[in-house]
Amino acid sequence: MPGTLRVILGDQLSPGIAALADLDLERDAVLMAEVRAECTYVKHHAKKLILVLSAMRHFARALQARGVRVDYVRLDDPENTQSLRGEMLRAVQRHRPERVVATEPGEWRVAEDIRRWQACLADEADGQEVEIRDDTRFFCRIQEFLTWARDRKSLRMEFFYREMRRRHGYLMEGGAPVGGQWNFDAENRKSLPKTVRVPGTPAFEPDAITREVMALVAQEFPDHLGSAEDFSWPVTGAEARRALDDFVTHRLPQFGDWQDAMKTGAPFLFHALISTSLNLGLLDPREICAAAEMAWLKGHAPLNAVEGFIRQILGWREYVRGLYWLHMPGFASTNFLEATRELPAFYWTGETRMNCLRQAITGTIAHAYAHHIQRLMITGNFALLAGIDPDEVDEWYMVVYADAYEWVEMPNTRGMALFADGGLVGSKPYAASGAYINRMSDYCKACAYDVKDAVGERACPFNYLYWDFFARHEKRLAGNIRLAMPLRTLERMDGAKLKAMRRKAAAFLESEQCKP
Ligand SMILES: Cc1cc2nc3c(=O)[nH]c(=O)nc-3n(C[C@H](O)[C@H](O)[C@H](O)COP(=O)(O)OP(=O)(O)OC[C@H]3O[C@@H](n4cnc5c(N)ncnc54)[C@H](O)[C@@H]3O)c2cc1C
Ligand code: SF4
Repeated sequence: MPGTLRVILGDQLSPGIAALADLDLERDAVLMAEVRAECTYVKHHAKKLILVLSAMRHFARALQARGVRVDYVRLDDPENTQSLRGEMLRAVQRHRPERVVATEPGEWRVAEDIRRWQACLADEADGQEVEIRDDTRFFCRIQEFLTWARDRKSLRMEFFYREMRRRHGYLMEGGAPVGGQWNFDAENRKSLPKTVRVPGTPAFEPDAITREVMALVAQEFPDHLGSAEDFSWPVTGAEARRALDDFVTHRLPQFGDWQDAMKTGAPFLFHALISTSLNLGLLDPREICAAAEMAWLKGHAPLNAVEGFIRQILGWREYVRGLYWLHMPGFASTNFLEATRELPAFYWTGETRMNCLRQAITGTIAHAYAHHIQRLMITGNFALLAGIDPDEVDEWYMVVYADAYEWVEMPNTRGMALFADGGLVGSKPYAASGAYINRMSDYCKACAYDVKDAVGERACPFNYLYWDFFARHEKRLAGNIRLAMPLRTLERMDGAKLKAMRRKAAAFLESEQCKP
């Protein structure tokens, strides 16, 4: 008797995924396909490709061990049509199912494609029904977010987060937040003293499956950024859970304090390193928040750390996803600041005299990872100040990070980092001069530039680019109350000094160092 064809995409590697909910072991087949179209729509970092393909193969093996009939199409299968739709159609020919079931994808591009599957089946096969189910792995379903957003003038993250805390009960007591406050950021985000010891992070040795994928990626995608060297991201649910335990035990207690700090030679600091697992579905956000809350209940981690961490998952992650679906497809072409400059070549090599950018970019190329403040306040901040085209910046972030999927990457890049959305995600551009980078890192001490200087020979580019940015956008940003201070300082600034800085900014952006 024909059963159901259940399609699992590469970032849907959760045993509880909606498409598998009513799986019939006797009659159903599960389709998983490695396709070139998904590996190359941007030239993903080699470590990201290894991560996704290896995690897919491990997930398929785990399903097979449970007795599930998995129809797994490998990238180098000669029959592979190399597109999701093509592989769905071929699988329908093979299995002749009575219907096709999928879980809604995370990206607009793929959602558009899957919406067309029904019509394709009507044309080419037996006209099977295609059922697309809600992705239940998030705290807030897309429809719930759209309803929350509908009647509100201001969609600020903080209000959404409070609503989510109330609804899901984390760190709540009798309807009120524990500790009497929703947010403990006043106690967080300190600069890191030299004496603080940075704990190590666990490495996950590649097994035979991962090693096979490493060879495949090297052979098939030799011109993609990065290498397989030192690959150590978790590729199974069990490994991801070990990574989470390690974070909760060793780094969560100090997560809040040093959340915004940056240090040479310490690319991970006190961060969780869970986004790769979470976005693939190897971890569930509920188990992560529960583990963090339990650490607080047991007295292992303080409230400022645990609240700050839960806010990232329950608040920011869900909020940016909601905004993505609320504003797509228009989000992808936002360019509020009319930025048109090409991305400097050093974003792909790390070869720049600016030490902060060199550290953030070389770490990114090595690990396919940088922590939030490096992404926002170093690479993002430079792109914002320099006026780099959001399309190019967006593509860079999609390529370089192992955790990058458009639903989470785009609102962070176009919204939070570049203010290209004109304030949908954040209420102001996160523009910062060298003083901020100097306060939060040790990068400036080893830099060719002088962070205290804004006009001299060795002036830090972030200083003159910062004032050039505000001078360029003075009119556009004038009504923004959160920018009152820099705009007032700009107004009172000595005209000759501002002119000198603007000249330096123009010359720097045209210099060899910033060549695309
Ligand atoms: C320009 C830019 C681009 C980004 N691109 C991505 C991306 O492609 N994929 C991605 O998962 N995150 C992205 N982020 C958010 C954040 O930087 C990463 O989630 C984080 O660095 C992942 O490392 P971690 O697991 O060690 O996180 P931690 O700092 O330990 O935080 C814990 C978790 O909170 C969640 N989180 C924290 N901040 C955010 C945020 N702003 N948006 C969504 N989730 C958040 C993540 O799931 C993360 O794993 C981006 C941020 C910026 C500024
Ligand atoms: S001096 Fe300027 S360019 Fe150099 S590391 Fe500091 S902020 Fe970056």
